[in-house]
Amino acid sequence: MEQEIITKFGQSLRGALIDRNHTEYDEARKLYNGMIDKRPLLIARCVDVADVITAVNFGRDQKLPVAIRSGGHNGPGHGSVEDGLVIDLSMMKGIRVDPSSRTVRVGPGCTSGDVDHATHPFGLAVPFGIVSTTGVAGLTLGGGSGHLTRKYGLTIDNLLEADVVLADGKFVTASKTSNADLLWALRGGGGNFGVVTSFLFQAHPVGMVFAGPIAWEQSHAREILRAYRDFIPKAPEELGAFVGLKMVPSTPPFPNEFWGARICLLVACYNGPEPDGKKALAPLLNALPPPALNWMSMMPFPALQSMFDGLYPKGMQWYWRGDFVKTLSDAAIDAHLQEAAKTPSELSLMHLYPTDGAVHRIGKQETAWSARDANWSMVIAGIDPNPQKAGAVTRWTKDYWAAVHPHDLAGGYSNFMMDDEGESRVKATYGENYPRLAALKAKYDPANLFRINQNIRPAP
Ligand SMILES: Cc1cc2nc3c(=O)[nH]c(=O)nc-3n(C[C@H](O)[C@H](O)[C@H](O)COP(=O)(O)OP(=O)(O)OC[C@H]3O[C@@H](n4cnc5c(N)ncnc54)[C@H](O)[C@@H]3O)c2cc1C
Repeated sequence: MEQEIITKFGQSLRGALIDRNHTEYDEARKLYNGMIDKRPLLIARCVDVADVITAVNFGRDQKLPVAIRSGGHNGPGHGSVEDGLVIDLSMMKGIRVDPSSRTVRVGPGCTSGDVDHATHPFGLAVPFGIVSTTGVAGLTLGGGSGHLTRKYGLTIDNLLEADVVLADGKFVTASKTSNADLLWALRGGGGNFGVVTSFLFQAHPVGMVFAGPIAWEQSHAREILRAYRDFIPKAPEELGAFVGLKMVPSTPPFPNEFWGARICLLVACYNGPEPDGKKALAPLLNALPPPALNWMSMMPFPALQSMFDGLYPKGMQWYWRGDFVKTLSDAAIDAHLQEAAKTPSELSLMHLYPTDGAVHRIGKQETAWSARDANWSMVIAGIDPNPQKAGAVTRWTKDYWAAVHPHDLAGGYSNFMMDDEGESRVKATYGENYPRLAALKAKYDPANLFRINQNIRPAP
């Protein structure tokens, strides 16, 4: 591409245009997942909607592959693209809380921690994920599950409105009353339909929570997983509780004697006072052996949300696979135990996030996310700081997934996929909603400009 064209593009932006000669290039192209090393041609650091429109028009007219980046946490690194244009929204961080309507307007560059920080003084929170450094934009557009999901639904169930720059450069607002079909597609369909420049969320009363991790030695895992499976459907929705198989990291604050031990973990969050939380958990805990660790206590919700941030800094090797799970049979639990026992690194994990309660009260066809009958969203993540372990964590994740997948539903959460599972998995994830998504893709992005994602191809 001629330098003159690039210079003119840079001059038309308020934000910085970073090319391969820029001193910040190597820092700016880094993603959360250290396994991904892409070298884009240009990174447009947009600071406002005008910059986004200019960048979309430039990418399309110059026929560049275009990636949309917000928090940069995407597993396969869809926030960047080899030899293409990155539309980087990480600078667009505005937040406005409206306590009277309990709504929050959020810029696409915000992390969930940014929003928790802004809403907490109002005694409010939006249901996001479980690590505060994750970008709100990518998480929301994929669906979004976390501690508050059972009571308040997925993040998309709380998305009221979005401003979007479409592939042709037009700016539209998607809400229930304007471009309702686009809002439907954004609620789970990922970054396929345009660049979201602002989100409007419904927030809920959440302040201090009774929360934290409880861990048992993995020798008890079979009875814990079985008891947890039977307990969750009867538990009050104020209680969020995900279960996992992992190892205790060899680092403070974990007690020395547990470093490297294999554990079965429960991370619970009761949105209410401690006595009520203890009562809610009693049927489960009373039926189980005493845990090795119980760190549940009253804490501000943002403290829970950022509790695991330090364990998972930017730049480690990550390989993910997930599935939606309807029933956790005894045979499935046995398969989990067998594979989890082979974990190749201390940070690798398997988590089962409950997606029942409020998630089930929305119909399969009401949003792009169709897995409304799943009771859990499961993730297996092979993680290690050492790049030389990339092969080992990848192999472990794939083998683990192959062993448990026959017990699960066909699809999985799009935000827990890498880019090697093929189109059939994307189709399985959206199920009966796929044809409508493909038709909307043809309406809003007929040339598939936004294809660096879990791609939904435009219907012919
Ligand atoms: C440590 C960690 C913890 C996680 N925990 C959870 C969890 O608890 N719950 C959960 O649901 N998920 C969780 N995730 C998965 C997370 O939802 C995805 O990684 C998601 O892609 C992150 O969004 P991002 O904005 O940071 O990503 P980015 O890499 O910036 O973007 C990912 C993709 O989203 C799309 N996109 C991003 N911004 C926009 C935009 N403004 N407009 C249009 N499209 C856009 C694009 O297709 C882009 O390629 C976690 C991920 C990590 C790494």
